[in-house]
Amino acid sequence: MGLPAKRITSTRRDRRRSHHALTATFAGVCAKCGAPALAHIMCSNCGFYKGKEVVNVLAKLDKKERKKKEKELAKHEKEHPQKEEKEEKEKQES
Ligand SMILES: [Zn+2]
Repeated sequence: MGLPAKRITSTRRDRRRSHHALTATFAGVCAKCGAPALAHIMCSNCGFYKGKEVVNVLAKLDKKERKKKEKELAKHEKEHPQKEEKEEKEKQES
């Protein structure tokens, strides 16, 4: 069986391990629902990407969970209305 040719000192071992630290992945915020979401990837919470619905996240839920999720998404929409809707309202007022 092969054996190490030389002893690895604690310094050399620690120097090697100094590059092993993990960095946290950056999670942005979904513009639609405000949940943390990765850039350039569909939001897994609401199923929207670039302001369009890509996946219907409510389709696979049962009745109880769907109602809960609809409520949650509607609540966020009320608190943070989308830009396009704001612009439309401003146009109507003027
Ligand atoms: Zn979202």
